[in-house]
Amino acid sequence: MRHHHIPAALERRVRKRARNRCEYCTLPQELQEATFHVDHVCPRLAGGRTAVENLALACVSCSLRKGARVTAQDPSTRVIAPLFNPRTQRWADHFSLMRAPKVIGKTAVGRATVLALAMNRPAVVAIRLAHMALGRLHPA
Ligand SMILES: [Zn+2]
Repeated sequence: MRHHHIPAALERRVRKRARNRCEYCTLPQELQEATFHVDHVCPRLAGGRTAVENLALACVSCSLRKGARVTAQDPSTRVIAPLFNPRTQRWADHFSLMRAPKVIGKTAVGRATVLALAMNRPAVVAIRLAHMALGRLHPA
């Protein structure tokens, strides 16, 4: 998937739409060394197309953890839930930064995705704290 060629113009559209942030964990590309990936929301293995309506900007960690997964277990209810889809769902409906620097899942989709993509791994929590200190991340 990440070896799949994305035309430069398409990548620019995806980056601009995402405002250069990971559409899963919200990490900004700014201050990150590794270039974020253009992720297939519906994986190519599952027939997902390389088209703007099936692409999302993802930080390297979210992208690698997501891979070809489309579901994960909600740790609260143990129900298997679909992973968050940034094209058809609204981030704020499923996640909260009220307890920033941690991302809290508000729904089965949100909780399953927080866990599956390790959105509160220590390195990203430290980066969120740094962005908060710079006034670039607002708990909401
Ligand atoms: Zn991410």
